[in-house]
Order: sequence, then structure tokens, then C-alpha cells
Amino acid sequence: MAGTSWMQSCIQNQIFAITHICSYESEVIFAFSRAVSVQLYSSFSPCGKCCQMIRRFLDHRSQCTLYIAFTSLYRASEDINRSGLQALNKHRNVRLLDIFTNKEWRLLEDRGCFVLSPIARAIMNEWDAHWRQKLIEIVTA
Ligand SMILES: [Zn+2]
Repeated sequence: MAGTSWMQSCIQNQIFAITHICSYESEVIFAFSRAVSVQLYSSFSPCGKCCQMIRRFLDHRSQCTLYIAFTSLYRASEDINRSGLQALNKHRNVRLLDIFTNKEWRLLEDRGCFVLSPIARAIMNEWDAHWRQKLIEIVTA
């Protein structure tokens, strides 16, 4: 999968998405067709169309579980994106759908994506809490 533009990497069933993965459905299906678990890390939450694509993917793979984490919400005021997250969160194969925690930030740091100072990390934690509150409001509505 080296050289693909739709993600930074695809290692051990992990997707590091830098754009809408719904634009790359066939590549995702190819890369993860036999995966029994997928971890998706993304800057933004999946949009409504991405949520639909992910659900289609999981619907055809009853044994495949999904863990999805993102740093912020994508256009959270739009109904299509909110209902997409609600439906994805209820999918029986989705084990976790959440904002980044220290675990995910550390994972990216360990991969050499960036280095956070203690002050930057504290600010990140505040933003994580802000986005998590908004996510909770959406999925519990
Ligand atoms: Zn999308």
C-alpha cells in the first residue's frame, strides 16, 4: 500500500486517515478484506458518507471489529454527520468510537509524527475534553 495518498500508512490493521476514507472504499476493502479487527485513527470524525461506508464494510464482515479514534468532530452541526456517528456508534462491530486519549497521542508520537511539549499536551487534553463532550452529546441524543 506504499505510495497511496489516502492515508499515511497501513500497518497491522491500522488506518491513519488524512482525508475522507469514503473516497477510497475499494482501497480500504482491498487492504482490510481479511482483517478481524481494524483500528482507524483520524484527524476528524468520519463524515456521514464515511460512516455509511464503514458500516457497509462491517456489515459484510460480522467477525471484524472496529476501533475508531479521532482528534475532533467533522462539521458536527450538520445532521448527516451527526446521524452517521450515531449509527456507527450503535453498530454491533464497533468496540470503541471516541476522541483521542493520551494512548492515541502517544501512539502518534511513538511513530515520530510529532513531539508534544508538556504544555502542548495539556492544551491538547483540554481540546480532547471539549470534543469528547460534544461527541457524547451527539451519540446520546
Ligand atoms: Zn468523509
